[in-house]
Amino acid sequence: MNRNIETKCLHFEEDENKITHFGAINFPIYQTATYAHAGVGKSAGYDYSRLQNPTKEHLEKVVASLENGTEGFALSSGMAAISLLMELFKPEDHLIADSDLYGGSIRLFRNVSEKNGIVFSNIDCYKENIEEYFTENTKAVYIETPTNPMMHVTDIAKVAELTKKHHIILIVDNTFMSPYFQNPLDLGADVVVHSGTKFLGGHNDTLAGFLVTNKPKIAEQLRFLIKTTGAGLAPFDSFLILRGIKTLAVRMEKAQENALKIAHWLKHQNAVTNVIYPGLPEHSGYDIMKKQARGFGAMLTFSVKSKAFALSILEKVRMIKFAESLGGVETLITYPITQTHADVPPEIREKNGITETLLRLSVGIEHAEDLIQELEHVFQETERELHG
Ligand SMILES: *Cc1c(COP(=O)(O)O)cnc(C)c1O
Repeated sequence: MNRNIETKCLHFEEDENKITHFGAINFPIYQTATYAHAGVGKSAGYDYSRLQNPTKEHLEKVVASLENGTEGFALSSGMAAISLLMELFKPEDHLIADSDLYGGSIRLFRNVSEKNGIVFSNIDCYKENIEEYFTENTKAVYIETPTNPMMHVTDIAKVAELTKKHHIILIVDNTFMSPYFQNPLDLGADVVVHSGTKFLGGHNDTLAGFLVTNKPKIAEQLRFLIKTTGAGLAPFDSFLILRGIKTLAVRMEKAQENALKIAHWLKHQNAVTNVIYPGLPEHSGYDIMKKQARGFGAMLTFSVKSKAFALSILEKVRMIKFAESLGGVETLITYPITQTHADVPPEIREKNGITETLLRLSVGIEHAEDLIQELEHVFQETERELHG
């Protein structure tokens, strides 16, 4: 029987028919770089931790199972995972990438991948006809849904139909939804990317990245690349992410519940000009989210009436932290224009709507009343100072 994801976050079925590691409930941290061999050709299955480490491997199996993939790879950060993935391509290969992506991914593609000869078309995958951009060199489509920070929703199954028809790969960065709410491989994607730093880890304490696939050939290439380039996740960090994953389900549910409450509260503020949360029925991607995901997540973006108002919110928050990153138990507020998306060229920022009045919230698991109370206080103080 296929287990529910709440259970899969806690119990790894494959290991259940035997007592291993003295019955330790938590998978041990194998803090070793290398492994002894009993003789020539007698490896115990582990040779060197750049490629194989039991703690890392256990985490990889767990994450692969959460994404319904056959193989997972744990890297030292989300960007290490995406950089590794780009090594699948060679000069003149053409990739279609969503134009509204995590700022670090845009920076990587523009400054590193392009230098290495990969050619990109950046398009609004949620509304444009992707097929029009295909060339004979097109090798992959790279999307996030919902996007960061504008929360555009792309129909994964629809894009997968096109990528399958053209025999190219579909890569989905699933960081915003986490495997708890969305499983792109089930919808036809070939590779799922995660910044494990975010919801999987969940505690704002560890950097990690993941690649999950159900295509043996891609897995084989990735395994070779990890061994060769060397950005695998460390054993202790693997342990921290495993620990974070245990509570993924309850964290996601609580954070989503809070996000919806805050979205409703924001909608009723005079100073707020726009609230973008895919869990609001008026959001243009609401119906697609209903179809392809089991929830709406805990990320929301909103605009206020002036730059001064936005800056004042960032100055005045105390319990809510003004910080980059997302997906942790603590609520964070981010200013995309100077933080996550600072290195995105201004013309693209403008086209995507990343303006000086735009703020992004990663809603945590505090009591919703306390979050709203702090926001209420910050909004009132700001109103008083700016408008008497
Ligand atoms: C944070 C993030 C990344 C990069 O991950 P790191 O762990 O910070 O390197 C990639 N994609 C998305 C959507 C992210 O939010």
